[in-house]
Amino acid sequence: MSLIVMKFGGSSVGTTERMQRVAQRIVENRDAGHQVVVVVSAMGDTTDDLIDQSKRLNSNPPAREMDMLLTTGEQISVALLSMTIHAMGRQAVSMTGWQAGIRTEPLHGKARITDIRPDRIHEALEAGGVVIVAGFQGMTEQGEITTLGRGGSDTTAVALAAAIKADVCEIFTDVDGIYSTDPRVVKNARKLPEISYDEMLELAHLGAAVLHPRAVEYAKHNNVKLVVRSSFTHNEGTTVKEEAVMEQGIVVRGIAFDKDVARISILGVEDVPGVLAGVFGALADGGIDVDMIVQSGVLDGKADFSFTVAGGDAEQAVSIIAGIRAEVPYRETTSETGLVKVSIVGAGMVSNPGVAARMFRAISDLGVSIKMVSTSEIKTSCVIAAEPLQEVVRALHTTYGLDTAEQVFVGGPSERR
Ligand code: ADP
Ligand code: ASP
Ligand code: MG
Repeated sequence: MSLIVMKFGGSSVGTTERMQRVAQRIVENRDAGHQVVVVVSAMGDTTDDLIDQSKRLNSNPPAREMDMLLTTGEQISVALLSMTIHAMGRQAVSMTGWQAGIRTEPLHGKARITDIRPDRIHEALEAGGVVIVAGFQGMTEQGEITTLGRGGSDTTAVALAAAIKADVCEIFTDVDGIYSTDPRVVKNARKLPEISYDEMLELAHLGAAVLHPRAVEYAKHNNVKLVVRSSFTHNEGTTVKEEAVMEQGIVVRGIAFDKDVARISILGVEDVPGVLAGVFGALADGGIDVDMIVQSGVLDGKADFSFTVAGGDAEQAVSIIAGIRAEVPYRETTSETGLVKVSIVGAGMVSNPGVAARMFRAISDLGVSIKMVSTSEIKTSCVIAAEPLQEVVRALHTTYGLDTAEQVFVGGPSERR
């Protein structure tokens, strides 16, 4: 008998029929004698719909009320899934994040889990039922409801798996594993039998939505056996583990992209100590995550520098910089939205010179200019204009020998926005 955590994403429970299929899958595991804890997301586009609804009433709703609203999506799913399992003659009990003992820091919209007290989960498992926990939500010590950031149900699942020492955490989604890139963009993407935590962490941070970055972080730190697989087929999925074997002749494991990048430039800044600290300190205080930073040469004692932020943060970033003009004098700021960041990731890159150069060549061969670059031991990222993104991703996929002849399985695309 194993203890299994099964997580189902929104598209896997988007309709009544899919909910039944998921329930069937859970019952199969329970009937085989395993103890099962399920984590489920809001059905289909529920979270997006709730956000749209809130924006029609308040363009800038309070973060606390947003969390109150968005957590209802997952509560609907857990109750319906539990009822479906009851209708099949088996025992199940649904729980909110709080009932499952998930405590978070007091930060609305993107809280981190601080502690899990899984006593009620253990009791319910001992009683013989399936436990179904609402993903993406928790509660602070002060009793406030929080959410874990978009895509955060993956993190609920992995954190619970660590807390109850599950044998495996299976993430069921609408593709049958982790691919060399988003299989919706590259049809002949390569399904990876395994990938290392570090590579997956980079891919997730760089935009691969298939796993929430914090879920991978949690899995790595707690050594959780993590498998991504399809909720529509029984195909073998992808295992995320400490070290993954690289196929002969392949140095890039995957390609990720982030479609929501803005570049802000501050021109003609007095080149004196403390300037960068002043600008980025003010942005950090305003809660803005800055990604790449590039400072160009100094001319007549004045410097120019550029940085990237998420597209939605650009306006606020520019107004924060305007607000510190007295302390950090500059000539002007410019802001460019609608950019994308494309990245290649592979643990073998560090020992293979020329990998980044091939990326730059493949992009320039398409007549696309690279606006910014950043590198680490296992990744290279380029910021480019949004327009030819798909061509760029496909060209890079071919360049690094990742194309396959096999047909990718993608379930339920018609339900996606
Ligand atoms: P869920 O609702 O199950 O959490 P998500 O939409 O969050 O599903 O994640 C699954 C999606 O991630 C896939 O449909 C696919 O389009 C996208 N994706 C992006 N990069 C990858 C990748 N490298 N491998 C597999 N899927 C990817
Ligand atoms: N329902 C939340 C979202 O859409 C959490 C999740 O699906 O993981 O982001
Ligand atoms: Mg997801």
